[in-house]
Amino acid sequence: MNILVINCGSSSLKYQLIDMKNEKVLAKGLAERIGIEGSQVKHEAIGKEKKVYTDPLATHKEAINTVLNALVDPVYGAVKNLDEIDAVGHRVVHGGEKFAGSVVITEAVVKAMDECTDLAPLHNPPNIIGINACKELLPNVPMVGVFDTAFHQTMSEEAFIYPLPYELYKELGIRRYGFHGTSHKYVAQRVGNMMNKDIKDLKIITCHLGNGASVTAIKDGVSVDTSMGLTPLEGLVMGTRCGDIDPAIVTFLMDKKNLSISQMNNLMNKQSGVLGISGISSDFRDIEGAAEEGNKRAQLALDKFHYTVRKYIGSYAAAMGGVDVVVFTAGLGENSKDSRAEICKGLEFLGIEIDNDKNNTRGKEVEISEDGSKVKVFVIPTNEELMIARETKSLVK
Ligand code: ADP
Repeated sequence: MNILVINCGSSSLKYQLIDMKNEKVLAKGLAERIGIEGSQVKHEAIGKEKKVYTDPLATHKEAINTVLNALVDPVYGAVKNLDEIDAVGHRVVHGGEKFAGSVVITEAVVKAMDECTDLAPLHNPPNIIGINACKELLPNVPMVGVFDTAFHQTMSEEAFIYPLPYELYKELGIRRYGFHGTSHKYVAQRVGNMMNKDIKDLKIITCHLGNGASVTAIKDGVSVDTSMGLTPLEGLVMGTRCGDIDPAIVTFLMDKKNLSISQMNNLMNKQSGVLGISGISSDFRDIEGAAEEGNKRAQLALDKFHYTVRKYIGSYAAAMGGVDVVVFTAGLGENSKDSRAEICKGLEFLGIEIDNDKNNTRGKEVEISEDGSKVKVFVIPTNEELMIARETKSLVK
């Protein structure tokens, strides 16, 4: 069974074609600048020459059309014809309270996804456009929606409720939802496999540290708390997002600086985080470089980031009544030994001890805790596409 995984952003589209017999990627690529001048599709069928298509991509439909043509291209393609695509798995950002798991996409499902758009106005519309475009181009192929929020629907009411008037939760859905669920679930399952244990018997803290970053507490095999909230702005200090701040700052700044709603949103989402503190970059590699050269604000940005992740690990150990394993994943979590070491520094009292030699690793599945460490610590590269493909397979089989 071959599954096409599609992740539509507002002007981009990432895809992978995966052969589920052996879970091998047959082809992958990225369509960029959809609806903007200079659009292109960078395509690669594994084992073949890479190809860049520069057809104009007015909408996501043209982008998906170009991707499908690339997949069946006699020279650059991965399959002979489109009949060899058995199902499509779509990443959908926000499923609200409507979706606690992945679903086969029907008209009613698309309608329900659309009703969640209020909660994710930037993310859900391109996801839905991608689904509709695929339906037109592959009308007989079953499709599945996999939600970033679904894994966290197991949070208890005390974990997800905000201390605001309760009516706002009922009226507008103001509550914590959490994101990166596909990634947290994937690495939790992997760590269970690596430890030869059922994840129902483990208390796991998963740290997805990329440009967007979140920490999740997993107990009895389900998410019991996570650092992102109504939107992906809450929680950790991120590349450009502020994470947790005193909410009174919002009205204070809007008043003092005469900011509009969209300016304030932009400040918190695009100009804050480690970019805001350092004034240098949102990319952790640039900040680590500047800090090494003695830039104090770059160092402060790193310190604040590490300190925040450390605090979340401590609070989730408290929330679960202990912790057996910590997992680091995503761009920074997989690649930065210094960040992992800094985050774990001072957590020895919880039984978290990492081995500096084992921690000297990048992008590989490996345990990095000391032999006698009470809490095991792992680096596990995330694979959201594979997780989406697995969910799709299990629903269309
Ligand atoms: P997203 O999917 O949220 O855009 P990624 O998971 O791709 O993010 O992570 C991107 C982040 O990972 C960037 O800030 C980048 O600097 C960081 N990163 C990648 N490789 C390294 C590395 N070797 N050292 C430090 N940071 C790294």
